[in-house]
Amino acid sequence: MMKTDAAVLWRVDEPLEVAEVELATVGANEVRVRIEASGVCHSDWNAVTGASATPLPAVLGHEGSGVVEAVGDAVTSVAPGDTVVLSWLPACGTCRACQQGRPSLCERATQQMAEGSLPGGGFRLSHNGARLHHYSFLSTFARHAIVNERSCIRLPPGTDTDVAALIGCAVTTGIGAVINRAKINPGCSVAVFGAGGVGLSVIMGARVAGLASLLELAFSVTRPGGMIVAIGVPPDGSAVTLPAPQLVRSEKIITGTLYGSARPAIDMPMILRLHAQGRLPLEKLVGRRYRLAEVNEAFADMRSGTFARAVLRPWADRTGTGG
Ligand SMILES: [Zn+2]
Ligand SMILES: [Zn+2]
Repeated sequence: MMKTDAAVLWRVDEPLEVAEVELATVGANEVRVRIEASGVCHSDWNAVTGASATPLPAVLGHEGSGVVEAVGDAVTSVAPGDTVVLSWLPACGTCRACQQGRPSLCERATQQMAEGSLPGGGFRLSHNGARLHHYSFLSTFARHAIVNERSCIRLPPGTDTDVAALIGCAVTTGIGAVINRAKINPGCSVAVFGAGGVGLSVIMGARVAGLASLLELAFSVTRPGGMIVAIGVPPDGSAVTLPAPQLVRSEKIITGTLYGSARPAIDMPMILRLHAQGRLPLEKLVGRRYRLAEVNEAFADMRSGTFARAVLRPWADRTGTGG
């Protein structure tokens, strides 16, 4: 048992509170990671507002990188001192979806994520002895996290941990949507909705035109035979209406992608290699860096679209490297 600091969401629609929490010792297949950086994602915000039902209280954050501090007896793929990017979808490897090569649809991971536990059902976070839930198997809004070994993807020494954190969710989701799900070929036209000023203007125009949702707009502007890939997670209970005759006559394909349909252990190092080759300017996505205590400010800036990505540096107030 050790103590660390973490940003806790106690109740829906309340600010997060940075509190001292207890972290249990690592289980056999688990790893304790010192969190170096954590991106702030709209999915975390969906937990704050209740748009996505989340077991509370919980330590949020699911887009992180860090350094391994301790490993359980059965861990073989990482060792203390390794730099890792964390996958929020540690697929079991044995269920039907995993066997079909679609780890982002892992049946076990999907079920246990909804319970707010680690894979296998364990809980390692508490506050004054009372259970705190894990968020998306990671809980990276903290100085330390205990995660399953399968969430850890080892990175080359010297990897930029801010960039690595973003590969933990946003980058892999976006790039995976293109290369894994849409499988876009050279020469294809791509429209991206919700990517800043232009995207927001499209949304406003869509509202004026009376389209109920972005998906409906995307469907209406996609060429016959084209594909619409939904990436952002809409609120629980929301629905979409499509013109049924056009679905047949235009042969448009509408699909979702979770986590960019990625195989994290393969795709994340590949994305880092592309970054190292100068082909993906991922560092431009890192907007402002925040101390852990500034997590609510980071959320506010994320929601206003001030920066491409807000990045928490949980150790910044101790090392003086934060923004
Ligand atoms: Zn995310
Ligand atoms: Zn599985």
